[in-house]
Amino acid sequence: MRKILLAAICIGVFALAVNFASRSDYSEFSLRFRDFVASLFFIDSTTKETLKSAYEKADKGEEKLSILIVPGHDSVQSGTEFRGMKEASITLDLGEELYRLLAADAHFDVRLSRTRTGYDPSIAEFLREKKTEIDEFVKIQKALMSRYVALGKIESRILVEHNKAPVDTAYKLYGINKWANENGADIILHIHFNDYPRSMRSASGIYSGFSVYIPESQYSNAKGSRVIAEAVYKRLARFYPSSNLPKEDAGIVEDQELIAIGSNNTVDGAALLIEYGYIYEPHLQNIVIRQKAISDLAFQTYLGIMDFFESDPKKESYETRLLPYKWQEDIFRASAAKKDTLSLQAALIIEGLYPPAGSSLNECPMSGNFGACTEKAVKAFQGKYGILPQTGYAGEKTRAKLNELYGAK
Ligand SMILES: [Zn+2]
Repeated sequence: MRKILLAAICIGVFALAVNFASRSDYSEFSLRFRDFVASLFFIDSTTKETLKSAYEKADKGEEKLSILIVPGHDSVQSGTEFRGMKEASITLDLGEELYRLLAADAHFDVRLSRTRTGYDPSIAEFLREKKTEIDEFVKIQKALMSRYVALGKIESRILVEHNKAPVDTAYKLYGINKWANENGADIILHIHFNDYPRSMRSASGIYSGFSVYIPESQYSNAKGSRVIAEAVYKRLARFYPSSNLPKEDAGIVEDQELIAIGSNNTVDGAALLIEYGYIYEPHLQNIVIRQKAISDLAFQTYLGIMDFFESDPKKESYETRLLPYKWQEDIFRASAAKKDTLSLQAALIIEGLYPPAGSSLNECPMSGNFGACTEKAVKAFQGKYGILPQTGYAGEKTRAKLNELYGAK
């Protein structure tokens, strides 16, 4: 209700401001008045404190903290694609896993924007029935935004160029934003996998890694989004490379244009758009290890969120879904991608031996492939535990040590 009232005030004041601003008098009063208007439009809607207090409420059993998970794209616009694998399908895999993890925690009221059968009924109905309201909402927000840019109250910042969303997609995204606002979503998580414009679409690209997009710092939902993003980023970065695409390599990337996270100040809650990696990366492409990798990406996201809310995070026995693991066969260099190698790489990361010194996770990712990176790290592991000779492959003695340290009981 407060927000509706605020919106009403905003619109009223906006009409006045337009009137004032169109005159060219720069009296003290009109300048102050414009400041006041802009400060209303960009009042913080989510911060570290509001999120923490929402969690405390949930902790007392009062009101649950509301989380909306939006698996990127849908059956109409399936996003990027690589060798027949559609982005919309793996964003859903990840979204469902994240849903399971968060929904199991009594603090959270979690909703998945779409499932295998389509959009969540409440969201679908909203998009179908509220067309006029959604269009009006977008029109007003855009008008306010361009007005403030023109007045110099807001700086227009285009940091990373994105493909312009098709009209239909833009409508759905703005509609979901409005739905999230009206339903009091505290956190909105958009799940995507990345790609970039390149000529040989059937070949893998040169960039790799994940990135977390958050609303640009002038937006109302910037502060809350950033604190959640930092916690999630920290977890993901332990096991996955941060994107090395120029301009995305900040890891946490502020953006003013992405509708999903609140372009034109359209989202109240903390909003993150996570590009979980490039769609052609080996751990996403290889069907033998993909589900494991995706389940771990969801797990890291969940752990990041819990890190933010819990001062004393729950002790998970392992910080990755890839462990514990039971290694039953020797693993040699150049063997086909498999779970044995993926979990070996995870164990080597925890040992501090992977990626090998001097290499990055972009150069030596958890790929499930046993190449030069893994060989070096296995040699280091053998050295660390006095396993001789240091063959660089995981033979009986090395496996015994791995099973002792990280083996499934
Ligand atoms: Zn996408």
